[in-house]
Amino acid sequence: MPIKYDAIISGLGPAGSAAAYELASKGLKVLAIDKAKFPRYKACGGSVSKKVDKILKFDFSDVVEDTTNGAVFSYKSKRHLFVQHDSPIASMVMRDRFDNLLVNMAKKAGADIIDNTKIMGVKDDVQNIVVETEKGSFQARVLIAADGASSSIAREFFDIDSKACSVTIESEVTAPKERLEQIKGRLMIDFGNIPYGYAWIFPKKDCFSVGIAGVNSKLSKGIKEYFAEFVRTQDMLKGLEIKNQRGWTIPEFFGNKKRISNKRILLVGDAAHLADPFIGEGIYYAIRSGQIAADAVINGIYNDDFRAYEADIEKEIYPELTAAQKLADMVYLHPKAWYSMLESEPLLIKRYYDVVIGKSNYKEFVREIMENSRIKVLCMIIKGWLKGSLSNCKLKIGN
Ligand SMILES: Cc1cc2nc3c(=O)[nH]c(=O)nc-3n(C[C@H](O)[C@H](O)[C@H](O)COP(=O)(O)OP(=O)(O)OC[C@H]3O[C@@H](n4cnc5c(N)ncnc54)[C@H](O)[C@@H]3O)c2cc1C
Repeated sequence: MPIKYDAIISGLGPAGSAAAYELASKGLKVLAIDKAKFPRYKACGGSVSKKVDKILKFDFSDVVEDTTNGAVFSYKSKRHLFVQHDSPIASMVMRDRFDNLLVNMAKKAGADIIDNTKIMGVKDDVQNIVVETEKGSFQARVLIAADGASSSIAREFFDIDSKACSVTIESEVTAPKERLEQIKGRLMIDFGNIPYGYAWIFPKKDCFSVGIAGVNSKLSKGIKEYFAEFVRTQDMLKGLEIKNQRGWTIPEFFGNKKRISNKRILLVGDAAHLADPFIGEGIYYAIRSGQIAADAVINGIYNDDFRAYEADIEKEIYPELTAAQKLADMVYLHPKAWYSMLESEPLLIKRYYDVVIGKSNYKEFVREIMENSRIKVLCMIIKGWLKGSLSNCKLKIGN
């Protein structure tokens, strides 16, 4: 076994590349491996919230296709409501280019990168981690597992249910310039069409990303049917060819914290189920968890102790995802009532944008909206309507 690395990273999505970049920048010997050949396709809306700008240490404007200042919301494809922020809220990217840029930055920082090579197995031999690939075995003190939503490492070493995810369908729909111009600078997000979920149209340079996401157990019919129905109701998509529909999953945090590390393996990003349960945002949490894992490795390498990773996720990320989960329950269990509330208080949406840009956070936002007297009244009304079932609302909102 020729080279022994400080750390091996499995997977070169945003989580793996961010970890590789941080480790290599601090002079650690790091190897990152991905089964795909880069640049590679990844099904994704490609909305990178502005809070990502605050944590990435380099500029990625070269791969930004559009910058959005707000969103057009709708309820069941009607009752459109455009709310603009006073500064950009998100950058639109195509994941092949965005992820490739992150890989190149990690390479430039000094990480060894091997793409087009699948990891076949991992052995934890107490002193080391041995990673077996199609092109031989590699050894390291620690493994950062960034192998995405269907992580085989999470399945083998941790009690993580890879099926506990939202299901999605996404298609990149080529559109003429005039159509793209219509929503340039805006996201479109629809509530109410997908049970416990949402639908989106995001503008890119030459296409729209069109998709839906919902919790599998709440979908009474097939996800493809919901997608087709949503597409049918969108004037913006009339006459356009909807091809290459891809089904995928978003491993959102559903409220039960699981172990995401052991002595020598740290799960990050989608592999650790760190996607936002309200709106499926995963890129920020992937990058941030990759960075937190890298810090734990940098600080723990001499003592062979990487426990800081899970403690830091517990401190920084779980409170956010727990609050996002509460918000998701409030909104998706009663989308009609919540949509009416948004229509009458669009300021709430601006406060939500502050979360997206990193000026505020979910915890603060959820606390703030619960202090809003109109929302209290809304909850009481819903409680009256639904009696027993809204003890659920009290439980979720009150604690
Ligand atoms: C349809 C859809 C729309 C989305 N839209 C958004 C959005 O608009 N904004 C947002 O923030 N998030 C969005 N997300 C979530 C986001 O895509 C993920 O949360 C994010 O990609 C997670 O990054 P990651 O690095 O953890 O995993 P990934 O990006 O999935 O990367 C994992 C990598 O591991 C590699 N890999 C897997 N197995 C192996 C193996 N055995 N050997 C070697 N390599 C392996 C894969 O090839 C892949 O490159 C969306 C997700 C979906 C499905």
